Amino acid sequence: MNEPHTVLDKGWVQLEEMMGGDEAVIRGARICYQSTSSSSDADERLIRRLIRSEPKHNTVFEHAVFRFSVKCPIFVARQWLRHRIGTFNERSLRYCIAKREYYVPAERENLDAYQKHMERSFDLYQRLLEAGWRREQARGVLGTSVYTEFIWTVNAWSLMNWLSKRYHKSAQWEHRQYADAILGIFKEAMPITAAAFEEYVLKS
Ligand SMILES: Cc1cc2nc3c(=O)[nH]c(=O)nc-3n(C[C@H](O)[C@H](O)[C@H](O)COP(=O)(O)OP(=O)(O)OC[C@H]3O[C@@H](n4cnc5c(N)ncnc54)[C@H](O)[C@@H]3O)c2cc1C
Repeated sequence: MNEPHTVLDKGWVQLEEMMGGDEAVIRGARICYQSTSSSSDADERLIRRLIRSEPKHNTVFEHAVFRFSVKCPIFVARQWLRHRIGTFNERSLRYCIAKREYYVPAERENLDAYQKHMERSFDLYQRLLEAGWRREQARGVLGTSVYTEFIWTVNAWSLMNWLSKRYHKSAQWEHRQYADAILGIFKEAMPITAAAFEEYVLKS
């Protein structure tokens, strides 16, 4: 298990497991052409060509698969779970009691009021539980800055699609912090693919 990377004030991302890597992409591509690797330079050139080629030969990148563990505010998770090509399982507030943990933005006006509101909502949540409310109904009083946890299994192609949208400057700043952390993990795990993706997709 790899170390978690801290994101925002209380969140993190962690690579739990991965299958394949740049080698899996090369294997996928070479079977198509019935070719063999002549050198590591030739393999690198092949991946770089595949990333920028049109139309995309995307399936070769789907042989590399990651499973991440993520802790983020519910509003980030709501955006993240819109990405359909991947598999998620999230901690359920029907079955679990919410922890008193919520995202606090840095240095904003009225931060006190924001925090007081969040604390009061947790006080009310607690009172409702004690009064016999079901967890699934009592959670309705909590805000979307409450932290949630999920695991995400995603192949490298879908991961790059997510990065191209959530690392983009038009994405919400908080979500971009997660994209930045995962881009760092991606670069370590698949250095050739990630470098080509940065050069031809993210920076283009
Ligand atoms: C900056 C930003 C702002 C956004 N604002 C909003 C918003 O205001 N409201 C809102 O509802 N959403 C919003 N979204 C979410 C956005 O519309 C997408 O749902 C989300 O980014 C997932 O992207 P995706 O479909 O490419 O990913 P995935 O769901 O992982 O799909 C990957 C790819 O698979 C293909 N695919 C998957 N499913 C289908 C399908 N049913 N039909 C055809 N092709 C498919 C597509 O090529 C797709 O790109 C926003 C996203 C961003 C990045």
